Amino acid sequence: MPTSEPDRVPGRRAACFAVVDPATGETFDEALDQQPDELDAVVDRAHRAWHGWRADPAARTTALRVAADAVETAGDDLARLLTREQGKPLAESYAEIARTAARLRYFADLAPRTRRIADGRPVHSEIRWRPLGPVAAIVPWNFPLQLAAAKLAPALAAGNTMVLKPSPFTPLATRLLGSVLVTALPEDVLTVVTGREPLGARLASHPGIRHVTFTGSVPTGRAVAEAAAASLARVTLELGGNDAAILLDDVEVDRIADRLFWAAFRNCGQVCMAVKRVYAPAQLHAEVVEALAQRAKTVAVGAGLDPNTRLGPVNNAPQLARVEQVVKQAQAGGARAAAGGHRLDGPGYFFAPTILTDVPPRSPVVTEEQFGPVLPVLPYRSLDEAVDAANGTGFGLGGSVWGTDLDRAEAVADRLECGTAWINNHAELSLAQPFAGVKNSGVGVAGGPWGLYGNLRPFVVHRPQEA
Ligand code: NAD
Repeated sequence: MPTSEPDRVPGRRAACFAVVDPATGETFDEALDQQPDELDAVVDRAHRAWHGWRADPAARTTALRVAADAVETAGDDLARLLTREQGKPLAESYAEIARTAARLRYFADLAPRTRRIADGRPVHSEIRWRPLGPVAAIVPWNFPLQLAAAKLAPALAAGNTMVLKPSPFTPLATRLLGSVLVTALPEDVLTVVTGREPLGARLASHPGIRHVTFTGSVPTGRAVAEAAAASLARVTLELGGNDAAILLDDVEVDRIADRLFWAAFRNCGQVCMAVKRVYAPAQLHAEVVEALAQRAKTVAVGAGLDPNTRLGPVNNAPQLARVEQVVKQAQAGGARAAAGGHRLDGPGYFFAPTILTDVPPRSPVVTEEQFGPVLPVLPYRSLDEAVDAANGTGFGLGGSVWGTDLDRAEAVADRLECGTAWINNHAELSLAQPFAGVKNSGVGVAGGPWGLYGNLRPFVVHRPQEA
């Protein structure tokens, strides 16, 4: 029994819920269905563990490095389980596990800096940084392990403890990750809880939680912020995206088509900062559609455990239904599928990789987040029109500009209202960069030293200078 196993309410039998393999649509295992009233004991223990954990930064560094090694050692088991419940190709699961370990190592070596305030007064004033207490992390199903690590590594490195709740669509790999990590950590520094709503809502509003760090959709992010307002806990929200890629008229379509295709279709399009809309100059539009459609028609779609697969299923039935709905809405408005446009026959949650053209610009597949293997390609006539359209949704996570003249491309990228912009690339992130969305895409800053400070509070000491 892993030591991350939860506290239970005495006398209650453990209930479970089904976990489905999206490649078959069948239940393949079950997970503990923890109830909200179990959280009091979990948070209480996280609070007690905090006092020892916050006291010894050197021990934290060592523990997080050991934890990173342990994740790599368990890589085979983690990768298979992740693919089984999430659907992604096994190679992508291994890549996610490598990123999980990399996050642990990066934050293991990061420490806040005590700073002197030099304002001319005859006082020695110093800013020190203190952890917040138990942190609640709530994560989605698209990158369960990597996103869990992106939250727990900075929170734990800063001296906080954590209660981590994965999505009910992907509870098992996270629970296994938890049982691997706790072998390197003092008891109750990290606890994984699994269950269905209202477990997350209760965790976000728990009075013992001092910071709620959430990744997920915009509507749930709003609900989490409201729940956390009850205890005035700090809130960090990493929410949805609807990233645009603007192709310039000097782009070499053949050279960029592979990169552009995978920027949209990696993880079956279920990436917060996937390319979700392409804007192509009107004179290149047909060539771009053709290049992307040719790739969509020939990419190997299948179960993630099959070594030939490059594109897996959509993770869950409600998401598959949503993808189908936005495609049907677009088609009803006159859009044409240059590739795909429909579910695939047979078992599992497969949707044919889809390239849409002639899409009405106000169609939900353009204005909202499709979060699946579907990409609309829209023509533009002037750059201003393209930039206005790129900036014209409620989202602002990322964006990219593709062309040969890099200075010109960068000048266009500079006009994008988003947190990260790329030239001739998309969604490549550095561990050392701030990660933040604007508008509905997020609140607060994660990543790099900003992610560490997001889990700390300033503590200022003033003392008179020695006479
Ligand atoms: P979701 O919002 O439905 O769920 C996210 C998490 O919140 C899950 O663990 C879920 O169980 C939990 N939850 C549901 N209702 C809750 C409530 N009332 N209170 C507290 N927790 C609750 O999102 P999803 O469908 O799992 O994930 C897809 C979304 O995540 C997309 O919008 C995607 O863009 C976004 N996402 C954003 C980033 C980013 O870094 N900005 C990264 C990955 C995914």
